[in-house]
Amino acid sequence: HASVTGSAGGVLTVDLGAIARNYRALVAQAGGAAVAGVVKADAYGLGMAQVAPVLLEAGCRTFFVAHLSEALALRPILPEGLEIFVLNGLLPGDERLCAETDIRPVLNSLDQVEAWSEAGRSLGRPLPAAIQVDSGMSRLGLAPAEVEALNASPERLRGIDTVLVMSHLACGDEPDHPANAAQLAAFRALSDRLPRARRSLANSAGLFLGDAFRFDLARPGIALYGGAPTGGRPNPMMPVVRLDARVIQLREVPAGAGIGYGFTAVAERAMRLATLSVGYADGWLRSASNRGAVFYAGRKLPIVGRVSMDSVIVDAGDAPVRAGDLVELIGPHASLDAAAAAAGTISYEILTSLGSRYERRYI
Ligand code: PLP
Repeated sequence: HASVTGSAGGVLTVDLGAIARNYRALVAQAGGAAVAGVVKADAYGLGMAQVAPVLLEAGCRTFFVAHLSEALALRPILPEGLEIFVLNGLLPGDERLCAETDIRPVLNSLDQVEAWSEAGRSLGRPLPAAIQVDSGMSRLGLAPAEVEALNASPERLRGIDTVLVMSHLACGDEPDHPANAAQLAAFRALSDRLPRARRSLANSAGLFLGDAFRFDLARPGIALYGGAPTGGRPNPMMPVVRLDARVIQLREVPAGAGIGYGFTAVAERAMRLATLSVGYADGWLRSASNRGAVFYAGRKLPIVGRVSMDSVIVDAGDAPVRAGDLVELIGPHASLDAAAAAAGTISYEILTSLGSRYERRYI
């Protein structure tokens, strides 16, 4: 992400030191397991090119992205030989490119196993890959019957160096959900039917479910970026993101004035309003209309009316706020998770929706 120059509508400050500290805290939490870095979606919107070197420096040796295109962008940033896995799997026609660039697909179906095996055999060397099993989420990975089919005909894995067997938790952020124990048991049983390899089940939340979920490698994303691994529990991670918006206008309106699109808010009394230069195109989601708030010198200024594409209106009251000032959207007074809750969503969606219009400051 190149930083915007000129007057941006807001400032996104990313604390890279906090990402490194969060990585080390997760390593401690992982007991003896290794900890990978999940840097898909441009490191959850924070900038993979900036984040990956910080994780590397903190000791991270394995990286996960969603797409081959993301893996290709990451490859030159990392020293040769470091592992990059593509979570969304191997698409037809990508086999050669993947093999030549030493990128490891997560094989999610028998077709993908067959294509990778074929590529390995035609290149005359076993090609490293992860195999994902579906332990219950019904999203990606081999179904139990497909795992059984591989177990019955191990020659189908010729040409593949199975370096990792993985699965993903559907309800890891709900520690008491019975699906967690069920997926754990299913993962154990399914991975026992595949070649001996490192095993990986835990995302950020999974790392906090107990020792049994750690296996050999954990795959946290959101916790690195300061989001709470487990919703509804105190957040053990350091905040990473600060987000500020520029005030572009102040106005006084009389009682009865309609405010914003659709007049979903109407001034009940004379009001002093501030218009901010961020909107839903900047990840300040429309669902925060009449719900969210921003902070100025610690004072809460509620959003009034609908969030527009490039602007949002807040009730400035008698706060000494002026055009040109910055107000806090995410920071010491409004955590990432609180801002997400006010928009009726999760931290992941806020971060990955921030877009490219902020001035970015990496500290
Ligand atoms: N592993 C897989 C397969 C994922 O899809 C994700 C992200 O959604 C992660 C790990 C990282 O998850 P989290 O950000 O919850 O730690």
